[in-house]
Amino acid sequence: MTEPIRGLNREVIPSHTAVFNTGDPGDAAYVIESGCVEVLAGPPEAPRRVAVLAQGAMFGEVGLLDRQPRSATVRTLVPTTLVRIDRAHVDELLTRTDPVIQYLLRLLLERYRSSSAAAIADPTALPGAATAATPQTDLHAAAVRTLSLAHDLTDALNSDQLTLYYQPLVSLQDGRRVGYEALMRWRHPGLGLVSPDEFIGLAEKTGIIRRIGQWGLRRAAQDWQQLRAAHPEGTPLFVSVNLSAPEMCSPGIVAQIHACLEHYGMPMTALRIELTETTVVNNMEAVIDSINRLRAWGAGVALDDFGTGYAGLDYLQNMAFSSIKIDRTFVQHMHSSNRSFHIIQSALELSRRLGIHSVAEGIEDAQTAQALAALGCDIGQGYYFSRPLPLAEIVN
Ligand code: C2E
Ligand code: CA
Ligand code: CA
Repeated sequence: MTEPIRGLNREVIPSHTAVFNTGDPGDAAYVIESGCVEVLAGPPEAPRRVAVLAQGAMFGEVGLLDRQPRSATVRTLVPTTLVRIDRAHVDELLTRTDPVIQYLLRLLLERYRSSSAAAIADPTALPGAATAATPQTDLHAAAVRTLSLAHDLTDALNSDQLTLYYQPLVSLQDGRRVGYEALMRWRHPGLGLVSPDEFIGLAEKTGIIRRIGQWGLRRAAQDWQQLRAAHPEGTPLFVSVNLSAPEMCSPGIVAQIHACLEHYGMPMTALRIELTETTVVNNMEAVIDSINRLRAWGAGVALDDFGTGYAGLDYLQNMAFSSIKIDRTFVQHMHSSNRSFHIIQSALELSRRLGIHSVAEGIEDAQTAQALAALGCDIGQGYYFSRPLPLAEIVN
C-alpha cells in the first residue's frame, strides 16, 4: 500500500573524497544539498579542475543520460551532503509524468549535458559561472527544487510537517455553517509553507499521494469529533476531503475510507469526497464504480472545479454526484463577465433539475454572496466567510 520514493538518497561525503572517478559507470546524478565539489578532467596523472560546484548544483547527469562511463572525476572539497538520484528512479519518473514534463526534463538534461561537455572541453567556459541567470539556469533551479521537494515529501509525512486546515462552508440561504473543506498544508522546515498546488501534483507523480491521502483522511476522521462538538447540536455537518485521481483509482479505496471512518467514529453520511473534473474524465470506469460505492455507504460526492474541465452535462447524468462545486474563476468574474454569470446560472439550473446541491467557491465579498443566494445557490465558500483555519481556531 505504501510507496516510498525509491532511488533518492542522501549521502554525506567527507572532505577530499571522490564521489566518482573517470571511467566509473554512470548510474546516478547528484544534487549538492550543502558543501562543494570540484570536477576534474584530463589524464589521471595530470587532472585539471574544470569546475567547482556548490549548493543546489547538479552533476553526474551526463553519464546518467548517455549510459556511458564517467568522463570526469568529481571530488568533495569540504564535507558535502548530496542527494543521489538513481537512474532507475529517473526512468521511473519519466514514465509516470505527463508528456510535457517528460519533454521538459529531457530537454533540460540534454542542454545541461551539452554545457557540461563544453566546459570539460574548454575549461574557460565554466557551467554555472558562465550561465548564471539565463532562462536555462532558471529551469535548472526549478528542476532542482522539484527533485528536492519530492525527496523531502517523504520526510514530511514521517515528521509531522503536514497538517489540515478547515475552510467553512456556509448555507447561502440562512448563513449557517454546514460543513468544512479539509485543505492540506505543508510546513517545510527550510522553505516555509508550500502550497498544495505545488506538492499535491508532485506527490501524484512520485506515487506518494496514496500515503499522503491516507494520512489526510485519517486526520480528518480524527478531527471529526472536535469539529462536531464545536457545532450547534442537532444541525447537520459534513467534512469535505479532496481525493486525486491515483487515490480514487486505487483498488479498495472505498473500503479503506469506510474502515478509517468507522475506526474514528465518524459517520459516512458526514463525509463528502471532492473529485475534480480532470480526475473524473480521465478515469471514467474506476471512478463511476467508486462513486456508486461511496454513495451506497451514505457519503456525498462533489464534482469539484465545475466548468474548468471537460465534464460535460452527460457526465453529470451518468455519475451519482450529490453536489457540484462551481469553480472560483466563474464566481470571481460573475459581476464583470456576462459569460461567467451565464455559466453560473446554467450550472445552478442544471443542479436543480438533477436534484443535487450546488456550492460556489471563491466568494470574496458580500455582493457576490447575495447574488449567488438570489440565483438559488445552496452553499458558499470563500474568504468572505472565512479563510481556511487550523482546527484549534475553529474549536476554541
Ligand atoms: P480546491 O479543492 O479547489 O480548494 C479550494 C482552494 O481555493 C483552496 O486552495 C482554498 O484555500 C482556496 N480558496 C478558498 N476560498 C477562496 C477565496 O475566496 N479566494 C481565493 N482566491 N481562493 C480561495 P488551497 O488550500 O491552496 O488548495 C489548492 C488545491 O490543492 C485545492 O483546490 C485542491 O485541489 C488541492 N488540495 C488541497 N488539499 C488537498 C488534499 O488533501 N488532497 C488532495 N488530493 N488535494 C488537495
Ligand atoms: Ca476541493
Ligand atoms: Ca475547487
